[in-house]
Amino acid sequence: MRDAMLREMGLGPIWRLRTMPDSAQTRPEAGSVDAAPDQARPVPEADAGPIVAPDAKPVRDGSPGDWSGLAAAVRDCRQCGLCAARKQAVLGVGDVDADWLFVGEGPGAEEDQRGEPFVGQAGKLLDNMLAAIGLERGNDVYIANAVKCRPPQNRTPEPQEMDACRPYLERQIELIRPRLIVALGRPAAQTLLRAEVKIAAARGRLHDYQGIPLVVTYHPAYLLRNLPDKARAWEDLCFMRATMRRLKGS
Ligand code: URA
Ligand code: SF4
Repeated sequence: MRDAMLREMGLGPIWRLRTMPDSAQTRPEAGSVDAAPDQARPVPEADAGPIVAPDAKPVRDGSPGDWSGLAAAVRDCRQCGLCAARKQAVLGVGDVDADWLFVGEGPGAEEDQRGEPFVGQAGKLLDNMLAAIGLERGNDVYIANAVKCRPPQNRTPEPQEMDACRPYLERQIELIRPRLIVALGRPAAQTLLRAEVKIAAARGRLHDYQGIPLVVTYHPAYLLRNLPDKARAWEDLCFMRATMRRLKGS
């Protein structure tokens, strides 16, 4: 099971060969990656505290105007400077009735081009991470970003840009009513929790976004550059999956 998950996450040899620089193509020191889950701190118990699971999702008003109005507002938005260099704003993708909401940072070049979040290299890793816990894009999963327009040179969005864009994310969350929100990386965590967040300190436990449980983990683009932290991301995936099971009471 664990091996399968590690493979799914791209920790297997194929992924490693394709992404490691030539000089690093030899296998890392015996098990430096694979063994890390055991060395890292133990997977936190998802039942470490009571989770009040709503019996059912609240009924939505179901008006399609909500999503189409939101899409139109984002498409034409000029609320921050990121509108200047974008090809298009990228609202999000997936199941609007999803239990899972994943929130990234902002579109990159490929996302800006194609109008869909996480379709570049980081997106491939995100898809593998989803697969590792039995999820797939679009099926009970919605994917969005903290800012909807691509920051130039893929720089981190500025706080005022995230502030300007936050109402769209808030509206998405209101419409989706996910059971669990996963903040991918620091900007997403900070804009959702409205607080300074350090991923290393904030991961592995439940946070709260307006009554919806929220977990934080590393951003896939960061994981592509920091292989050892993939082991921690794997722990986080286990934690999220266990949390969702508890939330669903199964
Ligand atoms: N990184 C993000 O945070 N979001 C994307 O959509 C793509 C890459
Ligand atoms: Fe508007 Fe958000 Fe794009 Fe800024 S990033 S222009 S707030 S949609």
